[in-house]
Amino acid sequence: VRTTHRIGLVGAGIGTSLSPALHSGEAAALGLTDYRYELLDLDDRGLPAERAGEVIREAHADGWTGFNVTHPCKQAVIGALDELSGNARLLGAVNTVVAEDGKLIGHNTDHSGFLAGLRRGLPAADLAAVQVVGAGGAGSAVAYALASAGASELRIADVDSARAADVADRVSGAFPGITTVTVPLDRVAGGLDRCTGLVNATPIGMTGHPGTPVDPGALHASLWVADVVYRPIRTELLDAAERTGCAVLDGGQMLVAQAADTFELLTGRSADRARMRTHLAEL
Ligand code: NAD
Repeated sequence: VRTTHRIGLVGAGIGTSLSPALHSGEAAALGLTDYRYELLDLDDRGLPAERAGEVIREAHADGWTGFNVTHPCKQAVIGALDELSGNARLLGAVNTVVAEDGKLIGHNTDHSGFLAGLRRGLPAADLAAVQVVGAGGAGSAVAYALASAGASELRIADVDSARAADVADRVSGAFPGITTVTVPLDRVAGGLDRCTGLVNATPIGMTGHPGTPVDPGALHASLWVADVVYRPIRTELLDAAERTGCAVLDGGQMLVAQAADTFELLTGRSADRARMRTHLAEL
């Protein structure tokens, strides 16, 4: 088991990320004394996302032991890696890179994290027909997670309809038994009455992006509603859903579950998810 951990978060404009505190806090609680989790911010270096793989290769050569990868680098790093896990290959996106026996191996814990968060936070969620709004990095991980969890029908919408179509095509290619449809944004609200679940995977609801991705008047009590946005933890969408009587899942569940899965891949140590949730609430 490795005892020295030098981990980098690779992304652009990541100065306010909660990940360093979440990971370092867990490392300290486990007594990992030779542990560092630091930012490798492309903005600070004046580099575009396409150079993320190079940054990882150079840091690896300098002795860094693993990487977390975030927006907008999750696709860009793939060309620099030696191997991909099944989930990472399926999604075409990497958020964790493990250095193992001189090789760089890409994983995706956004996928496993959404699934774990859903199972923990909404264990009884009916996956018959789920509407996902937002088909970027988070949305594609959510769509694959729902498909692998047994969703029967997935409805995908994005303001950029080509993105919605791309995710729908890829999910239906990987899971041919599932009905996958793209929904124009102006038809999402009208279609919710035939859905059992709704996931927001757009940035709408984040601090600085107020509002809801769907008209809250279209929510109904038999719908479960999940948000991937975690800052704030209670988004306008989740508030409206709770008022409507919906079961809800906040983005903190996915955040902690993906961070815990990544922590375990990078350190080989078991993370205490309850402790990480408590820690997140204090940040
Ligand atoms: P992204 O830019 O890759 O994707 C966002 C997508 O939303 C884009 O395709 C964009 O076209 C679409 N979009 C934007 N506004 C829209 C609207 N009004 N209606 C429909 N579609 C719209 O970003 P991302 O990395 O997927 O991140 C999205 C959000 O998810 C961010 O708030 C991020 O913090 C959060 N996130 C949370 C977790 C977690 O663990 N909880 C993990 C990853 C991302």
